[in-house]
Amino acid sequence: MTNTRPKANQLFLKAAELMPGGVNSPARAFRSVDLTPVFAEAGEGAYLTDVDGNRYIDYILSWGPLILGHRHPAVVKQLSETLMKGTSFGLPTEKENQLAQAVIERVPSMEMVRMVNSGTEATMSALRLARGVTNRNKILKFEGCYHGHGDSLLIKAGSGVATLGLPDSPGVTDALAKDTITVPYNDIESVKLAFKEYGNELACVIVEPVAGNMGVVPPVAGFLETLRELTEDYGSLLIFDEVMTGFRVGYYGAQGHFGVTPDLTCLGKVIGGGLPVGCYGGKKIYMSEIAPSGNIYQAGTLSGNPLAMTAGLSTLDNLTETSYQQLNERLNQLKQGFLEKKEQYNIPLQVNVAGSMIGIYFSDTPVYNYETAKNSRHDLFNHYYQTMLTEGILLPPSPYEGVFLSTAHTKADIDRTIEAIDVSFKALQA
Ligand code: PLP
Repeated sequence: MTNTRPKANQLFLKAAELMPGGVNSPARAFRSVDLTPVFAEAGEGAYLTDVDGNRYIDYILSWGPLILGHRHPAVVKQLSETLMKGTSFGLPTEKENQLAQAVIERVPSMEMVRMVNSGTEATMSALRLARGVTNRNKILKFEGCYHGHGDSLLIKAGSGVATLGLPDSPGVTDALAKDTITVPYNDIESVKLAFKEYGNELACVIVEPVAGNMGVVPPVAGFLETLRELTEDYGSLLIFDEVMTGFRVGYYGAQGHFGVTPDLTCLGKVIGGGLPVGCYGGKKIYMSEIAPSGNIYQAGTLSGNPLAMTAGLSTLDNLTETSYQQLNERLNQLKQGFLEKKEQYNIPLQVNVAGSMIGIYFSDTPVYNYETAKNSRHDLFNHYYQTMLTEGILLPPSPYEGVFLSTAHTKADIDRTIEAIDVSFKALQA
């Protein structure tokens, strides 16, 4: 199988004149895999067709949201009904109650929620809330965890145990960066040291309960529990950023899966079913501090948009505990496929999994944090990526992103994917 993309290449040339790097979000440029972008035309179930007429098994799934696949009939039907009533009112609607209720019923820590338009807005607002209720400025985050592009969260770790942050991007001020403490993921001792030094100044700890922005890195035993204990001891809030893991790692989110309850939770992606939605929430005593019931300000012209609420609600309604069993079976099938092909072609490979996310690394050493994730060989990943695309398998174009599955992916789709892995790994070995 081969695919070419002349129309996409033409569109990309034009796009580069109109938008920075030709895209509205950097990873879509396909730069890290030395390619030009696939331009999407349409999706159906587990499949995506591009503007050049190539058809792929889609594992990007809009970077996570489409857990039911493209154009799930129930979601499309309900969206069409909502659309006929209007696109936005700037007034409360019943749909907002319904999605809020569905989220609160599923996510253990969420007693009250606020809908926003993206994961970035959710994490930015949760930080403001944590700072507002604790009256403290500093936050602790983990190296390699991505929480959207809010200024406080775009901070690179220095080396050492707990260093004062340096701005990771021009435009983030030193003054703000110094309030972000960064330590390695899964490193319990470093967290304890950071608390010893800064604990009384920390408004919160924010963490991805399974890190999904350095591939897929599950928490080691005791990591999340230690965060819970230390934050309680020092009067800081624990924030789980479940924008990626929420409703993906399990029916009750990663917090349900691991049995650790944070003070605040951020959601996005699946909760919008492919439309722009984010959400943050937690204990009522904290959430009541948000305007207009409290003084901490946060607002949004399109927040709680009826179309977005409908897509989210319909997606959650169509996810049952059985869906997660099915996702798990497919995940194991794919994992087994990777491991068999690794053995067959003697490829240096690590395979990490959580829920319906799978991360692979071309490395001989286990991956449990950002440093070890960086051991993955980019040359091998790029080669693998390019062959997979030619074989009709559309993966996230980044070695630091997991592969997402949907309930629309069949056993046959995974079989076909494993055949493509075979072609790709055979070429790597050559
Ligand atoms: N938090 C996590 C864990 C994410 O993976 C992302 C996006 O990938 C975000 C926050 C930001 O979400 P958004 O891109 O909707 O702003």
